Amino acid sequence: MTTSLTTEAAGTQSRTAASTTGQRTEAEFARAEAHTAHNYHPLPVVVAHAEGAWMTDVDGRRHLDLLSGYSALNFGHSHPRLLRAAHEQLDSLTLTSRAFVHDRFADFTAALAALCGKELVLPMNTGAEAVETAIKVARKWGYEAKGVPADRAEIIVMSGNFHGRTTTIVGFSDDPDARDGFGPFTPGFVPVPYGDEAALAAAFGPHTVAVLAEPIQGEGGVVIPPAGYLRAVRRLCTEHGALFLADEIQAGLGRTGRTFACDHEDVVPDVYILGKALGGGIVPVSAVVADRDVLGVLRPGQHGSTFGGNPLACAVGQAVVEMLATGDLQRRALELGTAMRERLEAMVGSGALAVRTRGLWAGIDVDPAVGTGRDVCEALLARGVLAKDTHGSTIRLAPPLVIDPEDLSWGLDQLAAVIS
Ligand SMILES: *Cc1c(COP(=O)(O)O)cnc(C)c1O
Repeated sequence: MTTSLTTEAAGTQSRTAASTTGQRTEAEFARAEAHTAHNYHPLPVVVAHAEGAWMTDVDGRRHLDLLSGYSALNFGHSHPRLLRAAHEQLDSLTLTSRAFVHDRFADFTAALAALCGKELVLPMNTGAEAVETAIKVARKWGYEAKGVPADRAEIIVMSGNFHGRTTTIVGFSDDPDARDGFGPFTPGFVPVPYGDEAALAAAFGPHTVAVLAEPIQGEGGVVIPPAGYLRAVRRLCTEHGALFLADEIQAGLGRTGRTFACDHEDVVPDVYILGKALGGGIVPVSAVVADRDVLGVLRPGQHGSTFGGNPLACAVGQAVVEMLATGDLQRRALELGTAMRERLEAMVGSGALAVRTRGLWAGIDVDPAVGTGRDVCEALLARGVLAKDTHGSTIRLAPPLVIDPEDLSWGLDQLAAVIS
């Protein structure tokens, strides 16, 4: 109900918290805040256990997870197959560093290369590291393969982008929270409006080595570019001899109903940047995947990571790739996504201004009259549903792909009740 939500939103922080938390939750939440940097503003819930799409908090209450760790938990919590792979690996070998080869490396990298239809894989840990890796590779490729003069390489980036939190990456973000106070920034990035083919075409120059884009902007609010845009990016990159670097960290690996979001336009980028779900919600695993003519520019000593491609990461990552290779989860995401879209579209005009969906992924722009995105998420929490706002008034839904259809439907009932 609008009235109850706005009443709650008008209340103090502690009143809101009191209405949504239990005793242990309040104590643990306060303890968690006491000795940590406040670089996050979490919802007042303290999770102790989770399975599938359900999380249980320290007071024993169950919550439906409609965020999935921003797509890191595409396979849900504690997926038995992924847990088995992790447990088995824990008991035999966990880390060698890349100074030595281990026996899980070849299988994982071969499987991931095959899933991507590419020749080579460069494993890292976090998404931001994979993006940094792609930037380094694109620059080196530009100097060596394209003949760009030293230190002049340019990479075209998109307005509204989110590629992670390193100093180089936030330097080409246009989100003031991400960027302000962290300069000076790395030069060599040329921003263009996302989804604008003409602006992109005009931005290419002789020193352009790559276009870096999310095929759908997750953090931006599940922003889907106009139909044909990804094909245009592909065509323009080919015409100008530049690499298309697709950041599929949040959009890829089944979320949109296809293995990659680029698949919706039958587009094959030069470089796939992967992360999040690649680690099965168990360990951080990221990767840059491309053909030999691109990734081959790196030679020993020029890039690396102590933990990148470690045995535990490879064991889990391989299980993830095997699960995706059948296409079952992608089909499930499509089916559930169709049902979700119908429900969400019915909310437009009753609390939602607009909804955007692709596969099992949605951005819902909440009518400001209802409250902020944060207010909605707090009201959802009180009803046992966990979701996350982005950019003020947008709710992003990314349910685990394994979610039970009835649970999803119940979760959407809660959303409808909160915003209508
Ligand atoms: C989450 C995300 C990243 C950064 O990944 P981290 O693992 O948090 O460093 C980069 N790009 C996109 C599109 C993301 O969603």
